[in-house]
Amino acid sequence: MNQAMNTALNDQITMELQAAHSYLAMAAWFDSTGFPGMATWMHAQSAEETQHALKFYQFVLDRDGRVELGSLDAPGSGFESVTAVFEAGLAQEQDVTASINNLYALAMAEKDFASLPLLDWFITEQIEEESTFSQILDDLKLAGDSAQAILFLDRELAARGAVAQ
Ligand code: MG
Repeated sequence: MNQAMNTALNDQITMELQAAHSYLAMAAWFDSTGFPGMATWMHAQSAEETQHALKFYQFVLDRDGRVELGSLDAPGSGFESVTAVFEAGLAQEQDVTASINNLYALAMAEKDFASLPLLDWFITEQIEEESTFSQILDDLKLAGDSAQAILFLDRELAARGAVAQ
């Protein structure tokens, strides 16, 4: 693997860890504002991002690259509303999608075809990530100011059990 790909993959590892970090902060906010189901959901989401980072991490090592982790930004601990949290999550996933697309373009430009199956997996995964956040935002829009509907959604999101890959 050439240096450009190695660097870009390391940046992606850091981005996935940053996402995990942000989602953990969101989980804490949900927990402290009385939404245990959403906290559970965000916790699982954070763990999933760590798994994403580790997929890239293992890939770099398998290809005799060098793993170099970047530093993370503090995600902050305050949010305006439940909707604001999921909007921030969707925006984060859209940034990740753009980054994966750039990685794909780089792999093509560098003729690093060995990276393509992994990146294909992530392209499909990002469709699901964005769709999931959009769905929750649609549900929240429908719930409006109904505390009952928001609590129902909280209970529903609590059902997210085992961490997906
Ligand atoms: Mg991810």
